[in-house]
Amino acid sequence: MKAKIGIDAGHGGASSGTYSVKTTADGLFEKDFTLELALLVEKKLLANGFSVVMSRREDKNPGTVSERAKKMAAEKVDFALSIHFNGFGSESANGTEVFVPHGETAAKIEAALFEKLGGFFRVRVPFARSNSFFDRNKTFDKKLNLKTEKFDTVSAEKDYFGFIRTCWESGISADLLEICFLTNEKDFAVYSENREEIADEIAKSIVEAFGEKYIFEKAEEIPRALPRIRHKYDVIN
Ligand SMILES: [Zn+2]
Repeated sequence: MKAKIGIDAGHGGASSGTYSVKTTADGLFEKDFTLELALLVEKKLLANGFSVVMSRREDKNPGTVSERAKKMAAEKVDFALSIHFNGFGSESANGTEVFVPHGETAAKIEAALFEKLGGFFRVRVPFARSNSFFDRNKTFDKKLNLKTEKFDTVSAEKDYFGFIRTCWESGISADLLEICFLTNEKDFAVYSENREEIADEIAKSIVEAFGEKYIFEKAEEIPRALPRIRHKYDVIN
C-alpha cells in the first residue's frame, strides 16, 4: 500500500492570496495558481499509485488553515503539503521557501525540494524555516544535514503557520511550500513556462522520500488548458 498524501491548495474563494505581475491583465490570483499546481501534483501522485487527499478542487474556501489541517489528520495522511506562492511590495523579492514544523527532524522531502526547485528558482535560504507562533518575525532556519537527511536543530517553539502547526499537533508531518514570488517578473515567467516540470519535481520529491521510483507521466490536460476564471476584483498594489 503506497502512501497517502494530503495536498492543500492555499487560499480559495474570497481568500485570493497575493496578486501576480499579470493580475491586472488576466485576473488571476495566488488562489488560482495554487489550485492549478495542486491539481497537477495530484495527477502526478495518482499516476505513481499514491492516494491523495485534496483540501479543495475548485475555487472555494474549504475552511481555515487549521480546518484544512484537521481534514488531513482525519484522513490519516502520511504527509501533507500546503502549496502557496509569495508576493511582496517590492518586485525584487524572489525565490522559493519551505516551511517545516519546529519539531520536525526528518528532512528527506525538504532536501529533495530544495535541490529540485533550486533548478528553477533561487533558494531563499539553504534551510527549511519556520516562524514562531509568538513572534511572527522570529524565523528559525533549520539546517539540513544532507548526509543524514535530518535537521540539525529542533526547536520547541510553536509554529506560526496554522497548517503545519495543526498537522504537527495531530501527528502529521507537513510542509508549507512558497513556490516563488508571483510579484517578481522572472519568477513568474519561469513558473509559467515550467508548470508541469515543477509539479513533477514536487511529486518526485515526495514519491522518492517514500522509497518509490518516480514514474513520469505527462499530464493529459496541460496546465494552460485548466479552466481560467476571470475575477472582478479591483487590484490594489
Ligand atoms: Zn498564500
